[in-house]
Amino acid sequence: MSEIVKRINKIENEIQKACLAHKRNRADIQLIAVSKRHPACAIEEAFNAGIRAFGENYCQEALDKQQALSHLDIDWHFIGPVQSNKTHDIAQHFNWLHSLDREKIAKRLSRQRPEHMPPLQVLIQVNIDDEASKSGIPLEQLSTLAQTVIDLPQLELRGLMTLPNPAKPAIDGFISLARALNMLQQQFPNNKLDTLSMGMSQDMSPAIDAGATMVRIGTAIFGQRP
Ligand SMILES: *Cc1c(COP(=O)(O)O)cnc(C)c1O
Repeated sequence: MSEIVKRINKIENEIQKACLAHKRNRADIQLIAVSKRHPACAIEEAFNAGIRAFGENYCQEALDKQQALSHLDIDWHFIGPVQSNKTHDIAQHFNWLHSLDREKIAKRLSRQRPEHMPPLQVLIQVNIDDEASKSGIPLEQLSTLAQTVIDLPQLELRGLMTLPNPAKPAIDGFISLARALNMLQQQFPNNKLDTLSMGMSQDMSPAIDAGATMVRIGTAIFGQRP
């Protein structure tokens, strides 16, 4: 068995253990394999082991791999910061965006999303611990940006994403994000706000405890990034 297949089996075990411990259904949690800085052949190996969703942070790197892997039916997630000059490629080549944090970017993405494609599935990134250095919006701006995204025809708002402050207990940030989603669900009851993208290799279990529906796992699947 290859290293990647072994690691996927191990992470799958850990997800199931966390589900059991925190009374969650395995079927309600999607594993996103974060393949940034790893080659297309590593993605293909993970695909052959059953993974269908892959997360990438850098646009050009992702497009190169998508081209090499166009024979595979992959669900592509963009999870890195979005620069204005990359919105065109993201709108054309991804199914999901986890890291929306500006109205200007939202408008460009909706305008540039081809009409023959389903709406881009969007998560708003929240800077849950208000760290100065981090991308994501503060909680106070969430309803306004959510309303903007909901009003855009080629975007579908699905939920929230966060990267918690590594200096604090991860569970606190995850619980805050889950509460924020709850609030949005009450504010926008007619939208399908069902997604909480939180938890990485080091903090997956607390994220599942707090209600994650997507976990973004890189190192624990592909090993250290080169
Ligand atoms: C790199 C990255 C991950 C994966 O992190 P690991 O610690 O390697 O599991 C998850 N989410 C985002 C936004 C990332 O940039």
